[in-house]
Amino acid sequence: MQSKTEAIIISSINLGEADKLVTFFSLDRGMLKGVAKNARKSFKRFGAGLESFTLVRAHLYEREHQELARIESVDIIEQHASIGSDLGRAASGAVMLELVRELSPLGERNAQAFLLLSHILHLLDEGEGPLFLLNIFKIKFLSLLGYQPKLDHCLSCGSQPKGEMVFLGMKGGILCPACMVSSGEPQVTLSPGAVGFYYQALRMEMDKISRLKPSNSIVRELDRAFSDHTFHILGKRLKSTEFLKAVLPPAGR
Ligand SMILES: [Zn+2]
Repeated sequence: MQSKTEAIIISSINLGEADKLVTFFSLDRGMLKGVAKNARKSFKRFGAGLESFTLVRAHLYEREHQELARIESVDIIEQHASIGSDLGRAASGAVMLELVRELSPLGERNAQAFLLLSHILHLLDEGEGPLFLLNIFKIKFLSLLGYQPKLDHCLSCGSQPKGEMVFLGMKGGILCPACMVSSGEPQVTLSPGAVGFYYQALRMEMDKISRLKPSNSIVRELDRAFSDHTFHILGKRLKSTEFLKAVLPPAGR
């Protein structure tokens, strides 16, 4: 069965002598994997269209009960070339792609998540702040996949956050200082400013998102909370966050 869909290339690795195994996030069918036959030789059918971050129209051929599609050819819609040429943008984008790959179920359509990634990569390519965009992406993407943390009230007593709250990654929620029994471990805290920014960003339309100007400390707070949250969702750390820390260390944020 032949089909075509808009897709964002997550990764492509060499397969055998001439082929590539491509992982991509598609508008119509969510995460998919496919083989691009002869991709390393046929510039005409693929060109630079299998590079990570590229938005393409992919022409597919699929057979029932086969996990891998065949990618017949791709047309580049947006190359997003400046993401790969800047370390900070590349590192931030790599975390986004890893989150998509780890959290999106294979073959399950999520058009809103696709449009979000496409929009964020466009802004990243245009030079908008990489850490700001990564935060926005995490806030909206986790919510679209059903992993939205609950930050509007204490998980235990239900009180609304007035001062600093403690974030519990394992529960994806917050506790007020009165309910928190300290274990002596370092805590991830969220200020009212960070919680306020979270809900503002969650509700704001993507075409207005650049109006938001969070302080560095809010970006850092949310970054720590989300790292903790995704660690508990995935049961492991994202590999690409090491690269991000090396390129954009917290002190410089
Ligand atoms: Zn409480």
